[in-house]
Amino acid sequence: MPKPQVTQSDTSLQIPIGAQFGYCPQCGAPGQTRERRLYGNDKCGNGHIYPSGEAISIRAK
Ligand SMILES: [Zn+2]
Repeated sequence: MPKPQVTQSDTSLQIPIGAQFGYCPQCGAPGQTRERRLYGNDKCGNGHIYPSGEAISIRAK
């Protein structure tokens, strides 16, 4: 039985951890959860809750 080939293209399926919800505007931590509704809130890894529209989409240094 030939083994299925594993290629580098598999990595394209992965979402970069910490980037999918943007970053907390208060502390800069990656968003952990996002409410799936209009005008929902995001929550960062440090427990801050903020509107999804205020999430920072680029990493602040
Ligand atoms: Zn935060």
